[in-house]
Amino acid sequence: MKGDPKNRGFSTRAIHAGQPPDPTTGAVAVPIYQNVTYVHDELGRHKGYEYARVQNPTREALEANVASIESGKAGHAFASGMAAISTLVSLLEAGDHAVVSGNVYGGTYRLFRHVLERYDLSFSWVDTSRLDELRAAMTRRTRLVLVETPTNPLMEITSLAGAAEIAHAGGALLAVDNTFMSPYFQRPLELGADVVMHSATKFLGGHSDSLCGVLATNDDRAAEWFSFMQKSAGAVLAPFESFLVLRGIKTLAVRMARHESSGREIAALLAGHAKVQRVLYPGLPDHPGHDLHRSQASGFGALITFDVGDYQAAKRLLDRVEVMALAESLGGVETLISHPASMTHASVPAEQRARIGLTDGMVRISVGLEDLEDLTADLEQALDAV
Ligand SMILES: *Cc1c(COP(=O)(O)O)cnc(C)c1O
Repeated sequence: MKGDPKNRGFSTRAIHAGQPPDPTTGAVAVPIYQNVTYVHDELGRHKGYEYARVQNPTREALEANVASIESGKAGHAFASGMAAISTLVSLLEAGDHAVVSGNVYGGTYRLFRHVLERYDLSFSWVDTSRLDELRAAMTRRTRLVLVETPTNPLMEITSLAGAAEIAHAGGALLAVDNTFMSPYFQRPLELGADVVMHSATKFLGGHSDSLCGVLATNDDRAAEWFSFMQKSAGAVLAPFESFLVLRGIKTLAVRMARHESSGREIAALLAGHAKVQRVLYPGLPDHPGHDLHRSQASGFGALITFDVGDYQAAKRLLDRVEVMALAESLGGVETLISHPASMTHASVPAEQRARIGLTDGMVRISVGLEDLEDLTADLEQALDAV
């Protein structure tokens, strides 16, 4: 398209932002610049590109695109979601403290608890859906609040505007892991957050074929630090992965709409099923965070957690599915089903799992884009085994 898509709609920006036609050839899709170094015009003058750890045109296109769809000023792309989170927490200095949602992604818990606590950083794990608990956990040294909403896999909802207010009152930044919602449904920077993080491995890429993490921010200091860390620590996204994720984002809007319409149907089926004891999905009217979620997001997503009683019941169900794949991860075109306690959250100690209510009977589905009838039939026949 001609001109800057800045003031266009979400889908138009998802397709065009950061991707003007290639200046050399007019290519409509951004080429994969599979290249490391760049010739200088003369000593002291170059075209803005020196070395691929610092600048790569394919990665830059993705970074500009992510900034646009998350309503941020700057975007940064990394080799994985965990590399993005590592870069985010490198804003902290020895002695600093962060407050984190109690049931964050298992890998985030592992990084903070088993790696970063060794560097004199401290973390408080609180139920951020209770703003009074978040407020009470803030200390003089708190520089970061990291929230997931909905959480994984318990689907607890935190007020983003409320968390931003508390973080800012204490002199801390609010960062949000927005992987579950994608910017199509939820844009935390518009609600006061300072940094948004994604495992773009999930919905942004959308095809379970590339590992990628991104950060988007409106905070100039943070943006400058993230660029400095790309150069200094080097966990940058490769050109081919940058191309794949850019390609995935072009269909984000249509994929999310379909993920969600099927997600709602499957949540309703589970909620009315005799073998299912409890369904956690923010789209169900009896979900405790339903109204709050609706006030800050435009959809409910495709992640559903439900409880079939105990480990054996969950195992019978998971061993029986045919269309759904028993696998970790989420957000791809294919429906994935998993057992959080023994898979994604195995590194969370059993006592901590019990405390936050993550039971052995819980199963999580990431609803994909297959025919809804095939998914519901598969679930029905697998539930028969419970
Ligand atoms: C997968 C995931 C991550 C980690 O991302 P990777 O790309 O696997 O490194 C972080 N947060 C959430 C919510 C995730 O689902």
